[in-house]
Amino acid sequence: MSRPRTPAPIRFWAKVDPGWTDDCWTWNANTDKDGYGIFSMPTGGPQARNVKAHRWAYEQYVGPIPDGLVIDHLCRNRGCVNPGHLEPVTARENTVRSDNPVAKLMRGELLTRERLPNGTFRTGAPWVAEEDKINWDSEE
Ligand SMILES: [Zn+2]
Repeated sequence: MSRPRTPAPIRFWAKVDPGWTDDCWTWNANTDKDGYGIFSMPTGGPQARNVKAHRWAYEQYVGPIPDGLVIDHLCRNRGCVNPGHLEPVTARENTVRSDNPVAKLMRGELLTRERLPNGTFRTGAPWVAEEDKINWDSEE
């Protein structure tokens, strides 16, 4: 006799702090090392399948995530599973939108302004640490 299964949406929403429509809905269960919620899906076998909670929410309530796209948190809160805060984008677009110093630089948010001796200003790019540089070839 198999154990009765609780439907996935009920198990899912039991782990979420819901808010108003526009608020972040925060995942309250396991997260991975990057802070993304982990949702365990029973497979019928001995091993559950772990999926990212925000991806599950998006696919359940919005639609399938196109191949090769990642889900971007428009709210920048990785623990958030509000489908209204999620948008599928390319990995590159996701990085460009991030808080990575290089991405900020590309958005013009990190430019420095220096006053020169003759009274004019020079706008420049700040120094970026090696580990903050973006590897465009990585498709994670
Ligand atoms: Zn959010």
